[in-house]
Amino acid sequence: RIAYVDGAYVPLSEAAVSIEDRGFQFADGVYEVAAAFDGKLFDFEGHAARLRRNLAELSIDEPMSAKALELVGRKLLAKNGGGTALLYIQVTRGQARRDHPFPAVSTPTLVMTARGYDYAPRVKQQLNGVKLLTQPDERWGRCDIKSVALLANVLAKQAARQAGAFEAVLVEDDGTVTEGASTNIWIVDRNGMIVTHPAGRKILSGIVRDTLMRLAKADGLKVVERAFDVAEMNAAAEVFVTSTTALCIGVSSIDGTPVGSGTPGPVSRRLGALVWDEIARQTGY
Ligand code: PMP
Repeated sequence: RIAYVDGAYVPLSEAAVSIEDRGFQFADGVYEVAAAFDGKLFDFEGHAARLRRNLAELSIDEPMSAKALELVGRKLLAKNGGGTALLYIQVTRGQARRDHPFPAVSTPTLVMTARGYDYAPRVKQQLNGVKLLTQPDERWGRCDIKSVALLANVLAKQAARQAGAFEAVLVEDDGTVTEGASTNIWIVDRNGMIVTHPAGRKILSGIVRDTLMRLAKADGLKVVERAFDVAEMNAAAEVFVTSTTALCIGVSSIDGTPVGSGTPGPVSRRLGALVWDEIARQTGY
């Protein structure tokens, strides 16, 4: 496998950044995960735009234009065998003597990796549904920034996996459901509305979330961004999760209690199909 590190394509085993990189020392950086189908990037404009916004929020210089990023990404995907794969992009504030304030001068570090990714297990989960585990949302106050500081997400996800669940649902002290450890969470409410937490500082506004919202509305489905709590989620007709790696997966149970009939409902199945259609439209997959 080949990685991209600050301008060079190098074997993954030799790819390295300094131990004084601020990404390593302070988690002072952001990332993106984009999918490619048959070597063609899906929704890359959205990922590039989010990366740009996140960098601006942290006053980290853009290492290169969105177009250049896409060219490097495509080249890296090809060097790693193309096909269906995930492209990981990380930008940190760069290397500097360890000290909390921003260094007077620093050049951002840009790292990219690509690896083949099989959506077949996801398709199976779309049919059968996945289990969720609720966990306290112990993250910081700027969840809209896709920061590499993922410790709270890692702990929540690990708790879920140890409980045999696919994903952790993050819940605030007052019972509000924000999102998953690495997914956005949706419900179909008692009025048949498709509901997800509003964009803002409490969640990472997913690229699939945006796309799904657009596809649902174009399909005549009603989507509303509003907060909901655990009680409403547990009683919902359908619950589903979205992300670049999961796409759209229906939930079968939460904390061991079935959701609806216990298998993915018609809305999540319809939305899942719409996402696959959009992937086909964009990439020919
Ligand atoms: N929320 C969080 C916390 C995430 O880490 C992710 C995946 N990176 C998402 C939502 C989904 O985002 P996307 O649709 O862009 O993959």
